[in-house]
Order: sequence, then structure tokens, then C-alpha cells
Amino acid sequence: MNCQLITTTRRGNQQQLLGLLRTPLLGTTNKNFNCMNIINKPSPNFLPGRKKFKPEAIVIHIMQGTLYGTDSWFQSPVSKVSAHYGIGKKGEVHQYVNEKDSAYHAGRVNAPTWSLIKMADNGLFINPDYYTVGIEHEGDINTDWTDEMYTTSSNLIRAISLRWSIPLDRDHIIGHHEIYSLKTCPGNIVDINKLIAMAENPKMVNEPVTA
Ligand SMILES: [Zn+2]
Repeated sequence: MNCQLITTTRRGNQQQLLGLLRTPLLGTTNKNFNCMNIINKPSPNFLPGRKKFKPEAIVIHIMQGTLYGTDSWFQSPVSKVSAHYGIGKKGEVHQYVNEKDSAYHAGRVNAPTWSLIKMADNGLFINPDYYTVGIEHEGDINTDWTDEMYTTSSNLIRAISLRWSIPLDRDHIIGHHEIYSLKTCPGNIVDINKLIAMAENPKMVNEPVTA
């Protein structure tokens, strides 16, 4: 397992990468060096590219099921759905779609409460898949998130935010139901403010090798 260890500083509103260090970390128990091992599980369900957009926000989802059930659902062309990532209860990370492409995770809009939802000149909503990154999480809307899920998800949120200059706040880290009100996803248990706080304040965070 290889990890890239990154340190950051703030210059104005911009977070700048100071240095990259590639180091094998197998067997370490130091939580600051908690390595994120991303397993690729490519999904056929995505739009190559992002039209004229780029990732501007991260959408938090709950699987309503298991990580492995989600793997097979997203890998089936029949489902026509996906997300960029899935996080398991033990902190596993599976990647289904490249961040440069549009995963099919938040394409429907209904009574959105999200402050940054985009509307085209014709009055129709622009597909949020074009400008968001989707992260699924194992479990259902009423089960507690494990510490490993919080740690891994916040590390991943931080890494994505650095790659795309996405601010770490509630306008840019949102729940799926803020786009599609007919769903309760990601449910009532997850504390998105806690995810943001953890993403903002790690002493050191490991950057996933793949994007
Ligand atoms: Zn969802």
C-alpha cells in the first residue's frame, strides 16, 4: 500500500500543497498516518467528462444497504446509477467513477434547498451530476455511522476539496436530500457538520493515490 502524505497551509482562501511524500505505511498504527487504500470497482454508469463544469460540491449519500451490494448494483449496466466513491463501515473505500467524469448519483432535482443549485437560462435545473462528486456510505438512514466511516469520509472529503478547490462548508458539502427532497438520503443520523470539522482539522491527511 502506498500513500501520499500531504501538508497544507492557507494563503488567503487558497489551500496550497506544500509537499508530497510517498511512503509505504503498511503495519503502522499511528492514526495520523492512517492510510487510505482505494480499491477500484469501475462502474459503466457515468457520463465521460462534465460538460463545461467541474466539481464544485460534494454530495453525501447513504447506501440503504451494504458496500458489496452497492458494488454489484453500480457495476451493473442495468441499474444506470453510480457514485464516485463508496465507504464501508470499516473505512474501506471503493471508487466507481473518476472524479473527472459525471457519476449518476444526483441527477434528479425536486424542491431543492441547496443554496448553490444551478439553473439554466431556460429555467430548468442543470444536472447536478455535472458539478458534484458523490460519496456513498454503507448502512441505512437510521443506523449510526462508525468512527471509521467518519474518519475515512472526512479524509476523502479533504482530498477532493484540495484537488478541486472546493470550500469546506455546508454550502459545498451537502446531503443528497438537499437536491432531491423526495429522498431522506443520507438520513437523520450523519452529522455533516462533524464531517466538515474533521476534514478541516486533520494534522496530516493522506491523499488518495487515484483521483
Ligand atoms: Zn443519495
